[in-house]
Amino acid sequence: MSYIGICEYVIGIIHDKDIWYYVGEKDANGKCLRANEQYSSFLVDAKRYDDEDVLREELETLPKTLTYKILELQRCPKCKKEFTEHPALSREDNETEICPECGVREAVEAYERHNQ
Ligand SMILES: [Zn+2]
Repeated sequence: MSYIGICEYVIGIIHDKDIWYYVGEKDANGKCLRANEQYSSFLVDAKRYDDEDVLREELETLPKTLTYKILELQRCPKCKKEFTEHPALSREDNETEICPECGVREAVEAYERHNQ
């Protein structure tokens, strides 16, 4: 059995009703980003931390005017997509944690099977 579980963390910024992700000071090429480009609405852009202590240290250096949330990054074993939301329990074995989207999909499929 391959249990994937929590592997990495990202910093989320509460922005109205949305969550943005902290992308770090530099991009992949080591170029400094402008202040307004430090956040992205796409999880794929988020800076990843495999150590929560490192994340907390960096969090201390960020502007205190924003509201941050430490998000645990998980990979869905069904669709292989990464997600940070609270996982859903798969209906297939009642123990595998899957992403909310797959959770909804499984529920719809179960409903459709039931109504055929
Ligand atoms: Zn999924």
